[in-house]
Amino acid sequence: MALRNQVQLIVYPDRIGDDLGDLGRMVDRYLTKAIGGVHILPLYPSNADGGFSPLTHKEVDPAFGTWADVEHLSRRFDLCVDLTLNHISDESAEFKDFMQHGYKSEHAELFVHVDQMGPITPDDLAKIHIRKEKEPFREVTFGDGSSGRVWCTFTEKQIDLNYNSPKTYALMEDYIKFLTARGVNLFRLDAFGYTTKKIGTSCFLVEPDVYDILKWIDEIAREHGAETLPEVHDHSSYQYAIALHGMHPYSFALPPLLLYSLFDANSVYLKQWLRMCPRNQITVLDTHDGICIPDVEGVLPKAEIQAIIDNVSARSADPILRRSAANVHSVGAIYQLTCTYYDALKRNDDAYIAARAIQFFTPGIPQVYYVGLFAGQNDHELMDATGELRDINRHRYTLEEVDEAIKQPVVRRQLKLMEFRCSYPAFNGVFHLQYSNDSSVAMCWRDGTHTCELFVDLNFKKTTIRYIEEKSRRWLSMTC
Ligand code: BGC
Repeated sequence: MALRNQVQLIVYPDRIGDDLGDLGRMVDRYLTKAIGGVHILPLYPSNADGGFSPLTHKEVDPAFGTWADVEHLSRRFDLCVDLTLNHISDESAEFKDFMQHGYKSEHAELFVHVDQMGPITPDDLAKIHIRKEKEPFREVTFGDGSSGRVWCTFTEKQIDLNYNSPKTYALMEDYIKFLTARGVNLFRLDAFGYTTKKIGTSCFLVEPDVYDILKWIDEIAREHGAETLPEVHDHSSYQYAIALHGMHPYSFALPPLLLYSLFDANSVYLKQWLRMCPRNQITVLDTHDGICIPDVEGVLPKAEIQAIIDNVSARSADPILRRSAANVHSVGAIYQLTCTYYDALKRNDDAYIAARAIQFFTPGIPQVYYVGLFAGQNDHELMDATGELRDINRHRYTLEEVDEAIKQPVVRRQLKLMEFRCSYPAFNGVFHLQYSNDSSVAMCWRDGTHTCELFVDLNFKKTTIRYIEEKSRRWLSMTC
C-alpha cells in the first residue's frame, strides 16, 4: 500500500519519556490527528553514534521496549525505520566471529579488507571522502594474534559492509523481510553513499555502482510492500537522480533555503526550487543531524549561503566540517550547522509557522522532527555532557516537559497546521505555484472540488491559508 500523504513524526525510541511505550502514549494523547506516519530512529541494540551502530536489525534494544510497542504504532501509522546499509557494529555476532576466526570466518566476506585492495597511494587516500579526522581504516587483531585492516567510515565501532559480496545482500534481504513483517513500509537508507569503495575514486556515491546497490535494495523492499528513502547530503542533483530511479529523495535543500527566504524576505530562489523540486520527495526542516549546507549549493548563490552560515552560527554550536583524508586537520568547508530549527529562526514564532506552512505545501510527504514539533531550543547541556555536537538538537523530553511544551502557542499553531495537512483532501491532487511578488510566496493544491491556497508574506512573516470547506463549498480563511 502506498504511503499516506500525511505528516510523519521523526523521533528517537527513547527521547520522549523513557521508551517506545512512552512514545506511543504521547502519540495517542496529542498526535492522532496530526500525523499519518512515524520514523523511529534506530531502535536496535547499538554501541555508538546515537543508535547508528546496530548489532543487528532484528532486535529492539530491550531498554527501548519490544516489537509489540513498535507494532502498536505500525498498526495505525506508516512506519519508517533506518536500514543502516553501510555498516554494522563491531559488537555484532558477525564481526565478533570475524575477529575470532579471521579470514576463515564464515562472515569474513561481509567486511571490506583494506589489505586486499591493492596499493593505496597518498593520492588515492587524498581523494577519499572521509567523515572523521583520520583515514577510514581500522586495525583488527584476530584470535590467532595476526592482524588486518577493515574499512570503517564513521566511528571505529561502525564497520563498513562489503557490497561486492552476496553475503551482504543476503543480510540486507533478511533484515528487510524481518522488518516489513513488523509493519515497516518505508526504509530510510542510512549513509548509502559510502557503500561504494573503489581505490582511485572518492569512494563516495561512485556511479553507476551506487545506483545498482540502491535499486537492488529498493526492489527487495518493494517485493515486501515497502518503499525507500535513500539518505545523502551532497549537491541537490543527487536527490533528482534518486527520484528518477523511483525512490523518495529528501528535500535537504529546503531547510537552508527557507532560512534564507525568511531572513532576507526574498522568495526568488525558493520559487525557482519549488518549480523543479522532485514531486515524490520527503520534506524536512529538521532532522537528528544538523542543517546541511552542501544540499543548498547550486540552489542559492554562494554569498547567500555564507550569509545564512554567519547568521545561524551566532547562536549555534561549532559547525561540522567536511574533511579530506589528505589533510585531516584542514579547516574544511561547512557540512552541517548545529542548531535547532526554532533557534535558527531566532525563536520567532511567526517565522517558524511560515516555514512549516511552506514545508507542508511543498510537494512531497512532510516530516516533522520531534524537537521541531515542540519548538525546541538548543540543548547545550546535553551537547556538553556527551561531546556530540548534534546533541544540541537531540533533547531528551520527560513526559512532563512534553505536556508543557505542547501548550506553547507556537506548538498549538503548528499542530493545527499538521492536522490541516493530514486531513484536507486537496494535497492528493495537483500543485500550483501561483504568482506572488518577490517578498511573498503563494502556493496552491487542487483536487476535484477541493482547493487550498497558502499565502506567506515574508516581510511580515504572516501566513494565511484559504480553502474550500467540504460541506458548504465556501471559501474559508485560516490565519496560521
Ligand atoms: C545519519 C547520521 C549517522 C551516519 C552514520 C547518517 O547519515 O543520519 O546520524 O551518524 O549516517 O550512520
